[in-house]
Amino acid sequence: MNVSDSELVETLLVDQGYQKVDHPNKSDILFVNTCSIREHAEDKVHSLLGRYNLLKRQNPSMIIGVLGCMAQSLKDDILENKPYVDIVLGPDSYRRLPEILKRHEKDEQSLVDTQLSKYEVYDDLFPRRKDGVNAWVTIMRGCDKFCTFCIVPFTRGRERSRSVEGIVKEVKKAICNGFSEITLLGQNVNSYYYNDKKFPELLDVIAKVDGLKRIRYTSPHPQDINEELLEIMAKHDNICNYIHLPLQAGSNRILKRMNRTYTKENFIELAQKIRTFLPGVGISTDIIVGFPGETEEEFNETLEVMRKVKFDSSFTFKYSPRKGTKAIEYDDQLGEYEKQRRLTKVIELQKFNTALRNQSYVNKVVDVLIEKKSKRNESKWAGRTDSNKWVIFNRLDYNINDIVPVLITKSKGITLYGEITKKVKVA
Ligand code: SAH
Ligand code: SF4
Repeated sequence: MNVSDSELVETLLVDQGYQKVDHPNKSDILFVNTCSIREHAEDKVHSLLGRYNLLKRQNPSMIIGVLGCMAQSLKDDILENKPYVDIVLGPDSYRRLPEILKRHEKDEQSLVDTQLSKYEVYDDLFPRRKDGVNAWVTIMRGCDKFCTFCIVPFTRGRERSRSVEGIVKEVKKAICNGFSEITLLGQNVNSYYYNDKKFPELLDVIAKVDGLKRIRYTSPHPQDINEELLEIMAKHDNICNYIHLPLQAGSNRILKRMNRTYTKENFIELAQKIRTFLPGVGISTDIIVGFPGETEEEFNETLEVMRKVKFDSSFTFKYSPRKGTKAIEYDDQLGEYEKQRRLTKVIELQKFNTALRNQSYVNKVVDVLIEKKSKRNESKWAGRTDSNKWVIFNRLDYNINDIVPVLITKSKGITLYGEITKKVKVA
């Protein structure tokens, strides 16, 4: 989401005649687009700002701006403790950037706008994108779910969706600009709702856009995954056979305490249903360990669900207390050592499950979209299956953006290796 938002900001500024440079040393204006989701993300921003402050000492007319979620949640702290920051703008205020920069040029005052909007979706702004295979297309913003650990509803405000027409226009433009794949984005992407159109209907419309080879979407909430969505996914070959299904925890008491709206049984059943509707589907998840009050038995239930569902991959996190959320107030917070121990365990189990899932690809032929040269070996391509597995394979005379059939010969770590089977391009 932040990459996508940065592309929006770039559009707004380049349209006003500003120029992008490739290194902070060369810039007159520096923006940091920030994330508050965990303390670690915020720490990185603090240290980056420290470094930019040093640059500003050498070039005092430099303007430093903090954009996005941290602007929202830490504006007072920034204004008090980081006097070198000139501009603080929340995620719904990017449109004001050109005007604010002009005002700053005039009076050099610090300028702050962290007002959240019920309506801003930047529907009419088409982001400038780096060359590549995938274009991010934000379709909804904000979150109304209020999981007790999460700061997003506070930093990003209420759920709101873009018009179907605006999204289709942007998708067509991305295809014209050479992108083969689009990823629809939203804090709860499948809560999309615009003029009676829900997410499955939107997907159905987008899948029919000419020339679109692949569609992905992230992050969906399990609560809003229904049969209609799975049917649409099964119906269109260009909707990738992949679902991110964030579990968070495997104990019903903890899920309730997190305000996750499903039980472990619902979740396991949903994963089974997804596999029935979409054979061969890749399923990934998010897991938080060490949520306040999580006992050893409750943590073991998370491992149990992981063993049952056998996710293809997991994004695993230690619970990070966030100011302003409900969970920070629970008085049974776990210590760092215990959280780390649990994290190590889920990572180990996931490694095992990933190896198991990936092994099942060996000796099969899968369609792979070529995305780039392999980092380790430039004579090989790197691309993804529609189930979201990275594959390294021989180049022949194919090009980036081609979809090719690849025979998988080996699975190692999170990567598959293979050979292009025949000289036939898949449309
Ligand atoms: N809307 C999506 C997730 C968006 S946030 C959903 O509800 O599934 C991405 C992930 O960050 C979450 O799934 C969660 O696993 C993690 N996360 C959010 N807040 C966190 C916190 N306070 N500590 C640790 N992980 C957190
Ligand atoms: Fe955060 Fe996702 Fe829960 Fe919204 S649904 S509060 S973004 S974890």
